[in-house]
Amino acid sequence: MVGAGVIGLAIARELALAGQEVVVLESESRHGTGTSSRNSGVIHAGLYYPAGSQKALWCVRGKHLLYEYAASRQVVHANIGKLIVGRAEDEQALANIQKKASANGVDDLTWLSANQIGELEPALSVEHALLSPSTGIVDVHSLMYALEGDLTDAGGMVAVQSRLMWAEQLADQSWQMKIRVGDAPGGASATEEHALQAGTLINAAGLDADAVAMRIKGACQSLVPQTYFAKGNYASLSGRSPFKRLIYPVPVPGGLGTHLTIDTGGGAQFGPDVEWLGSVDPHREPGSSHASVNYQVDPARLDGFARDVARWWPDVSRDRLVPGYSGVRPKIAPLDAPAADFMVLGPADHGQAGLVQLFGMESPGLTACLAIGQAVRQKLLG
Ligand SMILES: Cc1cc2nc3c(=O)[nH]c(=O)nc-3n(C[C@H](O)[C@H](O)[C@H](O)COP(=O)(O)OP(=O)(O)OC[C@H]3O[C@@H](n4cnc5c(N)ncnc54)[C@H](O)[C@@H]3O)c2cc1C
Repeated sequence: MVGAGVIGLAIARELALAGQEVVVLESESRHGTGTSSRNSGVIHAGLYYPAGSQKALWCVRGKHLLYEYAASRQVVHANIGKLIVGRAEDEQALANIQKKASANGVDDLTWLSANQIGELEPALSVEHALLSPSTGIVDVHSLMYALEGDLTDAGGMVAVQSRLMWAEQLADQSWQMKIRVGDAPGGASATEEHALQAGTLINAAGLDADAVAMRIKGACQSLVPQTYFAKGNYASLSGRSPFKRLIYPVPVPGGLGTHLTIDTGGGAQFGPDVEWLGSVDPHREPGSSHASVNYQVDPARLDGFARDVARWWPDVSRDRLVPGYSGVRPKIAPLDAPAADFMVLGPADHGQAGLVQLFGMESPGLTACLAIGQAVRQKLLG
C-alpha cells in the first residue's frame, strides 16, 4: 500500500483488522506530512455534495464513524457546530444548501432568527444563518497516531523513507514493486533500491496518486485522470477569536469560501482560499510534489481575506491577520468544470486483480477516511 496520509492509514487499518498483512510505503520520514497535516481539521456534516455521490455517501457515513472512533480511542475532537451565513441576497443559496443536505440525509440544519444569531455569535453581522449541529473538529495528528497504532497492533507497519518507484503485475497476479529507500527528493543521503512483492497494491499517494499510477506497468493508464493542483492558503487570527463555532459563508467555485475554522488548540484561522496552480505533469517523480510545492502564504493575500471576512464580521482588522499555513487540493476537474467526485478504482473498474487506486482525494477526505477504508476493503475482499 502506498501513502501514509490519513486515508492511506485508515485503509491500512481496515485491511489489517480484516486479517491482511499490511505494509504502508511512505516516501517521507514520517506519516501524514502531506495534505493530511495541511487542512482545516473539520468533521464535515455532508452538506454540499451532489446526492448519491461518493463524496456525499462517504462524508455522511465517515462523520458518524469518525465521531464514534474518536470517542473510543481518545482522539482529540469536539462537536462544536457551524453556522453557514449570508447577506439578504444569499438566502436562496442557503436554502439550496439545506435542500442538498437533506437529499444527503442530513436533516438537522436549522434556520436561526436574528435574535438567535446574536445570542450564539454576537460578533456576526449577517441577515441569515443556518446552524449545522453535527459539524465538528478533530486533531488530525491525534487521529493518525490512533490509526497507525491500530495498524501496528494488528501486525501491520508503516515503512518510512520508502518511495514506490515502479510496480508491475506478475503472471501469478501478485505485484512486484521497486522501492527507493532512505532518501528525500533531491536529497544527498544514500539511497538503496529494494524489491517487494505483495498480493495487492493500493495507491493512496494523495497529491502524487497520478504519478504513482503512471509507474504501475500495465495498469489502465488511460483511466488516470489529469490532475490539477489548487492551493488553499490560511490566514491566522492573532489574539482571541470572538467566535465559538465554525463560520462559513456560501461556497465559491473550487472551495467553500473564506471561512473561519477553530482548531482543537483554540486557535482560529481564515481560509482556505483557492489559488489555482494548474495542471501537473503525470510523468513527474512519484512522491516529489510535497518538496516541489511552495507552501508559503503570500502576505499580499491578507487584504483579500480581510475583504471577504468583512462581509460577515465587519470588525475584522487586517492588522490581526498573519500568514498561516497552506495545503494543496489534488483536483481532477479543470477550474471551469463542475467539481469532480472522489475516484476510487478497484478491480471491477479497471480489470486488474488486487489493485485499488484513489484519485482526487480532496475535502471531505479527512471526514470520510474511515468510510473510504471500508469501501476499499469491500472492493478487495468483498
Ligand atoms: C486546504 C485543505 C483543507 C482541507 N480541509 C479538510 C477538512 O476540513 N475536512 C476534511 O474532511 N477534509 C479536508 N481536506 C481534505 C483532506 O485533507 C484530504 O482528503 C486528506 O488529507 C487526503 O489524505 P491522503 O491520505 O489521500 O493524502 P496525503 O495526506 O497527501 O498522503 C499521501 C501520502 O503519500 C505519500 N506518497 C506520495 N507518493 C509516494 C510514493 N511514490 N511512495 C511512497 N509514498 C508516497 C506522501 O508522502 C503522503 O504522505 C482538506 C484539504 C485541503 C488541501
